[in-house]
Amino acid sequence: FNFTYKPLRNSKGETYGVLHAAIDVTKQVQLQRQKDEFLAIASHELKTPVTSIKAYTQVLEKMIRNEGNERKAEMVKRMDIQINRLTGLIGDLLDVTKIQSGKMTFNPINFEFDALVVEMVEEIQHTTSKHEIIVDLNAQTRVFADRERIGQVIVNFLTNAIKYSTDSEHIEVKTFLKENEVLLSVRDFGIGISRDLQHLVFDQFYRVSGKLQHTYPGLGLGLYISSEIIKSEGGRIWVESEEGEGATFFFSLKI
Ligand code: ADP
Repeated sequence: FNFTYKPLRNSKGETYGVLHAAIDVTKQVQLQRQKDEFLAIASHELKTPVTSIKAYTQVLEKMIRNEGNERKAEMVKRMDIQINRLTGLIGDLLDVTKIQSGKMTFNPINFEFDALVVEMVEEIQHTTSKHEIIVDLNAQTRVFADRERIGQVIVNFLTNAIKYSTDSEHIEVKTFLKENEVLLSVRDFGIGISRDLQHLVFDQFYRVSGKLQHTYPGLGLGLYISSEIIKSEGGRIWVESEEGEGATFFFSLKI
Protein backbone atom coordinates (compact mmCIF):
# COMPACT_ATOMS: atom_id res chain seq x y z
CA PHE A 1 0.00 0.00 0.00
CA ASN A 2 1.01 3.59 -0.69
CA PHE A 3 -0.16 5.87 2.15
CA THR A 4 -0.72 9.60 1.75
CA TYR A 5 -2.48 12.16 3.91
CA LYS A 6 -3.62 15.74 3.46
CA PRO A 7 -4.88 18.15 6.14
CA LEU A 8 -8.40 19.57 5.54
CA ARG A 9 -8.68 23.29 6.24
CA ASN A 10 -11.63 25.68 6.45
CA SER A 11 -11.72 29.16 4.85
CA LYS A 12 -9.82 30.61 7.85
CA GLY A 13 -7.02 28.12 7.33
CA GLU A 14 -7.90 26.12 10.47
CA THR A 15 -7.42 22.38 10.30
CA TYR A 16 -10.63 20.46 10.91
CA GLY A 17 -9.61 17.02 9.75
CA VAL A 18 -7.16 14.87 7.86
CA LEU A 19 -7.80 12.99 4.66
CA HIS A 20 -6.03 9.63 4.55
CA ALA A 21 -5.62 7.62 1.37
CA ALA A 22 -4.29 4.11 1.01
CA ILE A 23 -3.64 2.99 -2.57
CA ASP A 24 -3.17 -0.69 -3.30
CA VAL A 25 -0.01 -0.88 -5.42
CA THR A 26 0.17 -4.70 -5.56
CA LYS A 27 -1.46 -4.74 -8.99
CA GLN A 28 0.88 -2.04 -10.33
CA VAL A 29 3.96 -3.85 -9.04
CA GLN A 30 2.71 -7.11 -10.52
CA LEU A 31 2.11 -5.50 -13.92
CA GLN A 32 5.57 -3.91 -13.89
CA ARG A 33 7.12 -7.30 -13.08
CA GLN A 34 5.19 -8.96 -15.91
CA LYS A 35 6.35 -6.24 -18.30
CA ASP A 36 10.00 -6.71 -17.25
CA GLU A 37 9.72 -10.48 -17.64
CA PHE A 38 8.11 -10.11 -21.05
CA LEU A 39 10.91 -7.79 -22.19
CA ALA A 40 13.53 -10.26 -20.97
CA ILE A 41 11.93 -13.24 -22.75
CA ALA A 42 11.12 -11.33 -25.94
CA SER A 43 14.62 -9.91 -26.38
CA HIS A 44 16.20 -13.29 -25.63
CA GLU A 45 13.93 -15.06 -28.13
CA LEU A 46 14.66 -12.45 -30.81
CA LYS A 47 18.40 -12.79 -30.37
CA THR A 48 18.71 -16.45 -31.37
CA PRO A 49 17.24 -16.28 -34.91
CA VAL A 50 18.98 -12.96 -35.66
CA THR A 51 22.36 -14.43 -34.68
CA SER A 52 21.74 -17.33 -37.04
CA ILE A 53 20.64 -15.07 -39.92
CA LYS A 54 23.81 -13.02 -39.40
CA ALA A 55 26.02 -16.11 -39.70
CA TYR A 56 24.29 -17.25 -42.91
CA THR A 57 24.53 -13.78 -44.45
CA GLN A 58 28.27 -13.67 -43.87
CA VAL A 59 28.75 -17.06 -45.54
CA LEU A 60 26.51 -15.97 -48.43
CA GLU A 61 28.46 -12.75 -48.91
CA LYS A 62 31.74 -14.70 -49.15
CA MET A 63 30.24 -17.16 -51.65
CA ILE A 64 28.89 -14.38 -53.85
CA ARG A 65 32.17 -12.43 -53.74
CA ASN A 66 34.02 -15.58 -54.85
CA GLU A 67 31.61 -15.85 -57.79
CA GLY A 68 32.59 -12.28 -58.66
CA ASN A 69 29.02 -10.96 -58.67
CA GLU A 70 29.47 -7.48 -57.20
CA ARG A 71 25.83 -6.44 -57.46
CA LYS A 72 24.60 -9.41 -55.45
CA ALA A 73 27.44 -8.99 -52.96
CA GLU A 74 26.44 -5.36 -52.42
CA MET A 75 22.85 -6.40 -51.67
CA VAL A 76 23.98 -8.96 -49.11
CA LYS A 77 26.23 -6.35 -47.55
CA ARG A 78 23.22 -4.06 -47.11
CA MET A 79 21.34 -6.92 -45.49
CA ASP A 80 24.27 -7.34 -43.13
CA ILE A 81 24.15 -3.64 -42.15
CA GLN A 82 20.44 -3.92 -41.28
CA ILE A 83 21.08 -7.12 -39.33
CA ASN A 84 23.72 -5.25 -37.34
CA ARG A 85 21.15 -2.57 -36.52
CA LEU A 86 18.73 -5.24 -35.38
CA THR A 87 21.43 -6.94 -33.28
CA GLY A 88 22.20 -3.57 -31.69
CA LEU A 89 18.55 -2.90 -30.81
CA ILE A 90 18.10 -6.38 -29.33
CA GLY A 91 21.37 -5.97 -27.42
CA ASP A 92 20.04 -2.72 -25.90
CA LEU A 93 16.80 -4.42 -24.83
CA LEU A 94 18.79 -7.26 -23.25
CA ASP A 95 21.00 -4.76 -21.42
CA VAL A 96 17.96 -2.98 -20.02
CA THR A 97 16.57 -6.25 -18.64
CA LYS A 98 20.00 -6.98 -17.12
CA ILE A 99 20.07 -3.54 -15.47
CA GLN A 100 16.52 -3.94 -14.17
CA SER A 101 17.26 -7.32 -12.62
CA GLY A 102 20.66 -6.20 -11.29
CA LYS A 103 22.36 -8.81 -13.47
CA MET A 104 24.60 -6.64 -15.62
CA THR A 105 28.07 -8.07 -15.06
CA PHE A 106 31.41 -6.29 -15.39
CA ASN A 107 34.74 -7.89 -16.16
CA PRO A 108 37.35 -5.24 -15.44
CA ILE A 109 40.79 -5.44 -17.02
CA ASN A 110 43.73 -3.08 -17.26
CA PHE A 111 43.84 -1.43 -20.71
CA GLU A 112 45.24 1.48 -22.67
CA PHE A 113 42.43 4.05 -22.88
CA ASP A 114 43.49 5.87 -26.10
CA ALA A 115 43.92 2.56 -27.94
CA LEU A 116 40.32 1.61 -27.18
CA VAL A 117 39.13 5.00 -28.45
CA VAL A 118 41.09 4.52 -31.73
CA GLU A 119 39.56 1.06 -32.17
CA MET A 120 35.99 2.32 -31.67
CA VAL A 121 36.49 5.39 -33.89
CA GLU A 122 37.83 3.18 -36.72
CA GLU A 123 34.86 0.84 -36.38
CA ILE A 124 32.35 3.69 -36.58
CA GLN A 125 34.20 5.66 -39.26
CA HIS A 126 33.60 2.67 -41.58
CA THR A 127 29.83 3.10 -41.19
CA THR A 128 29.68 6.68 -42.49
CA SER A 129 30.93 8.30 -45.66
CA LYS A 130 29.53 11.73 -44.79
CA HIS A 131 31.23 12.37 -41.45
CA GLU A 132 34.88 12.69 -40.64
CA ILE A 133 35.79 11.79 -37.07
CA ILE A 134 38.76 13.86 -35.92
CA VAL A 135 40.67 12.56 -32.91
CA ASP A 136 42.89 14.35 -30.44
CA LEU A 137 44.13 11.81 -27.91
CA ASN A 138 46.05 12.98 -24.87
CA ALA A 139 45.03 10.58 -22.12
CA GLN A 140 48.05 8.28 -22.49
CA THR A 141 47.01 6.26 -19.52
CA ARG A 142 45.75 2.82 -18.62
CA VAL A 143 42.45 2.31 -16.84
CA PHE A 144 40.97 -0.60 -14.94
CA ALA A 145 37.41 -1.17 -16.15
CA ASP A 146 35.28 -3.42 -18.37
CA ARG A 147 36.88 -2.67 -21.77
CA GLU A 148 33.94 -3.95 -23.80
CA ARG A 149 31.36 -1.96 -21.82
CA ILE A 150 33.41 1.25 -22.01
CA GLY A 151 33.76 0.63 -25.76
CA GLN A 152 29.98 0.34 -25.93
CA VAL A 153 29.60 3.82 -24.38
CA ILE A 154 32.11 5.32 -26.85
CA VAL A 155 30.25 3.70 -29.77
CA ASN A 156 26.98 5.05 -28.42
CA PHE A 157 28.33 8.61 -28.22
CA LEU A 158 29.74 8.31 -31.75
CA THR A 159 26.62 6.84 -33.36
CA ASN A 160 24.47 9.52 -31.72
CA ALA A 161 26.87 12.24 -32.91
CA ILE A 162 26.49 10.92 -36.47
CA LYS A 163 22.73 10.41 -36.19
CA TYR A 164 21.92 13.85 -34.76
CA SER A 165 24.19 15.85 -37.08
CA THR A 166 23.03 14.97 -40.59
CA ASP A 167 23.82 18.47 -41.91
CA SER A 168 27.40 18.72 -40.71
CA GLU A 169 30.54 16.76 -41.46
CA HIS A 170 32.85 16.89 -38.49
CA ILE A 171 32.87 15.04 -35.22
CA GLU A 172 35.60 15.70 -32.69
CA VAL A 173 36.80 13.12 -30.20
CA LYS A 174 39.14 14.12 -27.39
CA THR A 175 40.72 12.30 -24.48
CA PHE A 176 42.61 14.01 -21.68
CA LEU A 177 43.57 13.77 -18.03
CA LYS A 178 42.23 16.01 -15.30
CA GLU A 179 43.34 15.50 -11.73
CA ASN A 180 42.65 11.84 -10.92
CA GLU A 181 40.34 11.23 -13.88
CA VAL A 182 40.59 10.35 -17.53
CA LEU A 183 37.99 12.10 -19.71
CA LEU A 184 36.53 11.49 -23.13
CA SER A 185 34.45 13.96 -25.11
CA VAL A 186 32.55 13.53 -28.38
CA ARG A 187 31.48 16.77 -30.02
CA ASP A 188 29.13 17.16 -32.95
CA PHE A 189 27.71 20.20 -34.75
CA GLY A 190 24.15 18.97 -35.17
CA ILE A 191 20.72 19.74 -33.75
CA GLY A 192 21.89 20.02 -30.12
CA ILE A 193 19.69 19.73 -27.04
CA SER A 194 17.90 22.61 -25.33
CA ARG A 195 19.01 23.32 -21.76
CA ASP A 196 15.72 22.33 -20.15
CA LEU A 197 15.87 18.86 -21.76
CA GLN A 198 19.49 18.07 -21.08
CA HIS A 199 18.84 16.45 -17.70
CA LEU A 200 16.38 14.01 -19.34
CA VAL A 201 18.56 12.46 -22.06
CA PHE A 202 20.05 9.82 -19.73
CA ASP A 203 16.59 8.60 -18.65
CA GLN A 204 15.22 5.27 -19.83
CA PHE A 205 13.09 5.62 -23.01
CA TYR A 206 13.66 9.40 -23.27
CA ARG A 207 13.68 10.39 -26.95
CA VAL A 208 13.61 13.45 -29.19
CA SER A 209 10.04 14.65 -29.34
CA GLY A 210 7.55 15.64 -32.04
CA LYS A 211 8.20 15.14 -35.73
CA LEU A 212 11.90 14.65 -35.10
CA GLN A 213 11.08 11.14 -33.83
CA HIS A 214 10.58 9.95 -37.40
CA THR A 215 13.68 11.72 -38.67
CA TYR A 216 15.88 10.15 -35.97
CA PRO A 217 14.71 6.62 -35.16
CA GLY A 218 15.70 4.84 -31.95
CA LEU A 219 14.48 3.28 -28.71
CA GLY A 220 15.81 5.92 -26.33
CA LEU A 221 17.95 3.39 -24.46
CA GLY A 222 21.55 4.04 -25.54
CA LEU A 223 22.31 6.91 -23.18
CA TYR A 224 20.42 5.27 -20.31
CA ILE A 225 22.57 2.12 -20.68
CA SER A 226 25.72 4.24 -21.10
CA SER A 227 24.96 6.14 -17.94
CA GLU A 228 24.36 2.90 -15.98
CA ILE A 229 27.69 1.52 -17.25
CA ILE A 230 29.68 4.63 -16.38
CA LYS A 231 28.06 4.97 -12.94
CA SER A 232 28.73 1.28 -12.21
CA GLU A 233 32.37 1.87 -13.11
CA GLY A 234 32.49 4.76 -10.62
CA GLY A 235 32.67 7.48 -13.28
CA ARG A 236 30.63 10.52 -14.34
CA ILE A 237 28.65 11.17 -17.54
CA TRP A 238 27.17 14.45 -18.78
CA VAL A 239 26.34 16.64 -21.78
CA GLU A 240 27.00 20.25 -22.72
CA SER A 241 24.92 21.73 -25.52
CA GLU A 242 23.03 24.65 -26.98
CA GLU A 243 19.98 24.00 -29.12
CA GLY A 244 20.88 24.12 -32.80
CA GLU A 245 24.60 24.30 -32.10
CA GLY A 246 25.57 20.68 -31.57
CA ALA A 247 26.28 18.71 -28.45
CA THR A 248 29.34 17.50 -26.55
CA PHE A 249 28.96 14.31 -24.55
CA PHE A 250 31.49 13.51 -21.82
CA PHE A 251 32.37 10.70 -19.48
CA SER A 252 35.13 10.33 -16.97
CA LEU A 253 36.69 7.38 -15.17
CA LYS A 254 38.92 7.35 -12.12
CA ILE A 255 42.53 6.38 -12.75
P1 ADP B 1 17.96 7.28 -29.15
O1 ADP B 1 19.08 7.89 -29.93
O2 ADP B 1 17.65 5.88 -29.54
O3 ADP B 1 16.74 8.16 -29.11
P2 ADP B 1 19.61 7.71 -26.77
O4 ADP B 1 19.41 7.22 -25.39
O5 ADP B 1 20.93 7.41 -27.41
O6 ADP B 1 18.40 7.14 -27.62
O7 ADP B 1 19.40 9.28 -26.76
C1 ADP B 1 18.27 9.83 -26.09
C2 ADP B 1 17.91 11.18 -26.69
O8 ADP B 1 18.96 12.12 -26.41
C3 ADP B 1 17.74 11.21 -28.20
O9 ADP B 1 16.46 10.80 -28.61
C4 ADP B 1 18.01 12.68 -28.50
O10 ADP B 1 16.87 13.45 -28.18
C5 ADP B 1 19.07 13.04 -27.48
N1 ADP B 1 20.44 12.98 -28.04
C6 ADP B 1 21.35 12.00 -27.84
N2 ADP B 1 22.51 12.28 -28.47
C7 ADP B 1 22.35 13.47 -29.08
C8 ADP B 1 23.19 14.32 -29.88
N3 ADP B 1 24.45 14.00 -30.17
N4 ADP B 1 22.66 15.50 -30.32
C9 ADP B 1 21.39 15.85 -30.03
N5 ADP B 1 20.54 15.09 -29.28
C10 ADP B 1 21.02 13.93 -28.80
